[in-house]
Parts: sequence; structure tokens; C-alpha cells
Amino acid sequence: MAILKALENSNLKEGNTTVHIDSKGAILAIKATNPKENVTLITAIKSVAKSHQAADRRVILNWIPSHVGILGNEEADILAKSALSCSTVSIKVQPSITHLKEMAKSYAKLQEESEVRRHYLQDSRTSKWYVDVTNLGPHDITKQTTRKLSIITHRLRLGYLCTWQMIGNEGRLCQYCDREAIQPLEHYLLDCPETQSLRSNLTENELTPAQITRHILNNIRTHGNLLMSHTPLR
Ligand SMILES: [Zn+2]
Repeated sequence: MAILKALENSNLKEGNTTVHIDSKGAILAIKATNPKENVTLITAIKSVAKSHQAADRRVILNWIPSHVGILGNEEADILAKSALSCSTVSIKVQPSITHLKEMAKSYAKLQEESEVRRHYLQDSRTSKWYVDVTNLGPHDITKQTTRKLSIITHRLRLGYLCTWQMIGNEGRLCQYCDREAIQPLEHYLLDCPETQSLRSNLTENELTPAQITRHILNNIRTHGNLLMSHTPLR
């Protein structure tokens, strides 16, 4: 915006115009053939620069280092800082694509959180589980995570029900220890001797299924191999 104002204010003067800028990023953005950010502002700057050139005046963008005592630069810095305390906005700048994406992302996250909390308050089992396990935080899945482990991670975060639970059948035998597992996920997390190491380093007070799941997911690198060899019951 300062570059645009400088060019506009020098439009009526004779001779070439040199604008001293301490932002290499701004200079590169103006020089870019197809800018992706701040397109409206950069187009306006280029338009004013063209009007200079049409009147046979050159526009030179000169990079200078900041905070080294260059007189005009220090003054511009002081003015920019003082503008932060203004109570009103006198110049509106269109948000950049990146800014818009960030706004959309944070809005979507807020919507998601309020939706989950609404279900939580309505006593939805899965929403309660999801909030208790994740605290609405992001998952720890990276590009290096195998597909199998990322599926297990998602299922644990969602506190899935097994097919036979959904159709109301009685429990089945656990495939790992042969005990009856009426609530398969709870058995897998709390009781199954084959998954004992998932509960290591937990205190007596941290033995609810959701707390154990949170512990496992927070230590996925330690527990990943067991989760892969003994996938949660389905
Ligand atoms: Zn078992």
C-alpha cells in the first residue's frame, strides 16, 4: 500500500521515480508475471507504474536494508507503527488469497468444534468419545504413517462400533485372547492381556477407555507396531 501511495504521489512530478523499499518480498511480488497474492493491490501498483512509463518517466524499485538508520526508512517505520494505534481504518486492503484461506479454515474449525460440542451436550456417545480422546486437536498422521496405521488412528479417534454391535448381536470371542468381548473396543483397551503394553506407564486414575486411547495416540510411535500386529477388534 505504501508503494502504491508513493507512486501515486509522485505521478505529477517531473523525472524518474525511485521508491526505496526494505521488503524484498514486495519487490518480487510486483515483478512477478502472475502474482497469486494481493492481486488487486499489485495490479493497482502496476497500473500507476505504467502511467509513469506512458509519460516517459521510469519507475525504479530500490531495495534497502531496514533498521540501519536510513532517514526516510526510519520515518516510514515510525509512521507505520503509529498507524497501529489509530482507532479507525482509513485505507482498506483486500485480503490476500492466503489470508482468505486461513479465514475459511479457522471458520470451518470453529463450526466443526461447535457442532461436536452441540452433539456432546446432547449426550452423543461418539462425540463425547471424540472430545475426550482428541480434545478437538489435530491428528498426528504424517506422510510417513502407513495407510493401515492411519486407518487405525482414525478409528480410535472416532471410538468406532463393531458391525456386530450395530446390528445388536451378543458379544463375540476376542481373536487374540479368546475371551468374550461384548464391548470389543473397551475389551481391547482395558482387558485384553495381548494389548497389556498399550496400558504401560498409565496410573490407576487414567484407565478409562478414552484416556487409554488418548495415551496410545499421544505415543503412537511407541505403540504403532502393536496396533499394526494386533489391530483393534472389528
Ligand atoms: Zn482379548
